[in-house]
Amino acid sequence: MNRTNIIAGNWKMNMTLDEGKALATEIVKQATDNGVKAIIAPPYYLLESVRQIIGNSKHVFLAAQNCHQEAAGAYTGEISVNMLKSVGVDYIIIGHSERRNYFDETNKMLTKKVNLALQAGLDVIFCCGESLTIREDNAHVQHVKRQLRESLFHLYENEFSRIVIAYEPIWAIGTGEVATPLQAQEMHAEIRKIVSNNYDDRIAQATTILYGGSCKPSNAEALFAKPDVDGGLIGGASLKAEDFLKLLEMRAAK
Ligand code: PEP
Repeated sequence: MNRTNIIAGNWKMNMTLDEGKALATEIVKQATDNGVKAIIAPPYYLLESVRQIIGNSKHVFLAAQNCHQEAAGAYTGEISVNMLKSVGVDYIIIGHSERRNYFDETNKMLTKKVNLALQAGLDVIFCCGESLTIREDNAHVQHVKRQLRESLFHLYENEFSRIVIAYEPIWAIGTGEVATPLQAQEMHAEIRKIVSNNYDDRIAQATTILYGGSCKPSNAEALFAKPDVDGGLIGGASLKAEDFLKLLEMRAAK
């Protein structure tokens, strides 16, 4: 199956101007055209500088970490999809668990963000995943199904084809506790089944599903070897050019 392979780096609230420019420069200089899309998601204030550094690279792309759910107006401190588009963003990460948990983002709110991003012509990396309690209750599949249904499944097929799904179990994000390759594969296969039931198998097979949660060079090989894992959404390990580039190489070797 010819799915797009992606390694996306979510820098979160890290990197000063100089640090961010240096990291992006290193990544763009060393990333090769190896069939894997590299996506970097710096904080808002760095987007324009990183866009200049990426230039019109055919294999490094730019993502924002979030956007506001309204198109414009009196929302002090917020950033709209059109602002992101105007600085040349390619993707928007929507529904990261840190946004859901710390900023009370609901599935309904995320629907609005997804719609605005797609209408503006930007692609979406949509995050889903369960907390430890939900997994211990064995309710993780239902939980993720609901996240997808309530935020994405209103989309037409041609719109849904512009969504990349990132499965990120919350208990593995930034904790050093990575999901086992088997746990990741099981969930990715479930997600593909859920997409297939809602759309069809052709669409499900074409959907890129990334794993996120303490993924780094020392554990990525076994994760990337799983048939339904199409790459990673990387937090901590995306802050070091060497690790991020290594993950790109490892994905390409699959
Ligand atoms: C993330 O925040 O998307 C993430 C996967 O973080 P980390 O790799 O640091 O767990």
